[in-house]
Amino acid sequence: MAEPVRERKKPLPEIVPLTQPFWEATAKKQLVIQRCSDCRAWVWCPRPACVECGSERLHWTPVSGRGKIFAFSVIREVVGRSLRAFEGDIPYVAAWIDLDEGPRLLSNIVDCPIEKVKIGMEVEAVFEEVAPGIFLPKFKPSN
Ligand SMILES: [Zn+2]
Repeated sequence: MAEPVRERKKPLPEIVPLTQPFWEATAKKQLVIQRCSDCRAWVWCPRPACVECGSERLHWTPVSGRGKIFAFSVIREVVGRSLRAFEGDIPYVAAWIDLDEGPRLLSNIVDCPIEKVKIGMEVEAVFEEVAPGIFLPKFKPSN
């Protein structure tokens, strides 16, 4: 019996009330991160309360979208059916980005030859529409 045809769609973000402001901002090509109104800590990933002081007074705050590559990995192979949707992107770069404001995000490096990607490289956010109205922040070298 033939194996059923499997969907090869990439997973989309699950947009819930907690994360909705983030996705509304990326749709406007802006990056926002939660910030604590009591201790001023940046909070990433989105949470209902501050990781430093426990305050629930968190506010979505615009950030520059600029930062540096902290670490990266070049993905040259996908393993497992759930990742087949990414086969067409190989090779691609997954990276931790340290934003100038401090938070560290996991994303992709785009618009850059893989051999040019370096730790410490200055990058800036770009926004890729992956489904109608849903924009993922990715990063490209700064000019
Ligand atoms: Zn706090």
